[in-house]
Amino acid sequence: MRVTLLQHTPLEVCAHAIRTCWQSYGKSDNGGEIDRCLIERVGNHNRHSSTLEHLFYTFYIQEISRLLLQELARHRIASLSVKSTRYTLKELKEEAPFDRFDERAQKYLISSGDETVDGMSVKALDNLRILLAVGISNDRAKYALPESYKTELTWSVNARSLQNFLTLRSKSNAHSEIQNLTFAVYEALPEDHKYLFSKCLTEK
Ligand SMILES: Cc1cc2nc3c(=O)[nH]c(=O)nc-3n(C[C@H](O)[C@H](O)[C@H](O)COP(=O)(O)OP(=O)(O)OC[C@H]3O[C@@H](n4cnc5c(N)ncnc54)[C@H](O)[C@@H]3O)c2cc1C
Repeated sequence: MRVTLLQHTPLEVCAHAIRTCWQSYGKSDNGGEIDRCLIERVGNHNRHSSTLEHLFYTFYIQEISRLLLQELARHRIASLSVKSTRYTLKELKEEAPFDRFDERAQKYLISSGDETVDGMSVKALDNLRILLAVGISNDRAKYALPESYKTELTWSVNARSLQNFLTLRSKSNAHSEIQNLTFAVYEALPEDHKYLFSKCLTEK
């Protein structure tokens, strides 16, 4: 799994939005400490959480399974642009048969961490390859995609929704892959924004 932060809103924008409510502009300091405290107090402590919606983050998330993708997509207050399977299926059509979870198979599949399950994923991958090789169209063949099939996406989310995501999905009852994503997303955040989210994460 790889998570890259592509862009984020500076904290000053959120502080400005908060100050709009009380017309208390001009109180920021150069280091931004006053802004940081203001956002923590109003957005987090006082639960005036809509002010956090002014902070936007865009992540490029790679090397994840479609299993994780469908869980991530349940978080409705976010925008997703996902790699089309049509492209990867074109490459798969040209592949030689797969018989083990080797480097070639890992180009298409995410490991479950269990050898037996990964072996079955390879069989599913090879079945998919056969469907393509005998001329079944991509749009039909994709019904046979295993959940372990690799994908990637660009994900944009505001700070309020990100807090909700990190809270729900870092817990031990969440699936391990999405749990790992919460920690990778947190790590990718700008250092000066992490304080807004650190309390959402459940210790691993
Ligand atoms: C451990 C775990 C197990 C899960 N298992 C399942 C499962 O078995 N089956 C399943 O279907 N899902 C499952 N889910 C997904 C879960 O039900 C949520 O869909 C997912 O966590 C997204 O949460 P959310 O709705 O808070 O987020 P978002 O969709 O991002 O919404 C954010 C917030 O906006 C508000 N909101 C959004 N839409 C509405 C709305 N229509 N009406 C009112 N308020 C709204 C809510 O306050 C919500 O918390 C599971 C989640 C977890 C964490």
